[in-house]
Amino acid sequence: MKIVEMEKAPIKRLPMWPAVITGKCPRCRVGNIYEKPMYSLVGQKINKACPHCGFVYEREPGYFYAAMYISYAFIVAELVTLAVGTSILTGSHNPWLYIAILLSVTGVLAPFNLRYSKVLLLHWLTPGIRYMPEYSVEKDTAA
Ligand SMILES: [Zn+2]
Repeated sequence: MKIVEMEKAPIKRLPMWPAVITGKCPRCRVGNIYEKPMYSLVGQKINKACPHCGFVYEREPGYFYAAMYISYAFIVAELVTLAVGTSILTGSHNPWLYIAILLSVTGVLAPFNLRYSKVLLLHWLTPGIRYMPEYSVEKDTAA
């Protein structure tokens, strides 16, 4: 009896950057990490597991506390950039101008910071999580 080996179709690898920007699962790059879009009014809730491959996002209890440090780095970078930009563009020494600009822009960027601190934590800063193209395959076509 001859064993016939089935020829495997090549698995299409999904690129990293669109997955990071759109907040996709770090393992399959198909399922959404967040339930809703970034500026939705209902909040920033993370799916417990990837809706496509079942990857559990919270790796251990309190895992997402580490995202605070990333968010902190984002805020510092944004505030320094805004303060220097305001100083260069206006030349003002009025502290209320700086406070108004920095607080308003920080408020607008808060959903961005919250979302991408967790996305970057999952994609780049957690050892052991890596992209596995075999999980990207559509469920219907996977045998
Ligand atoms: Zn996934």
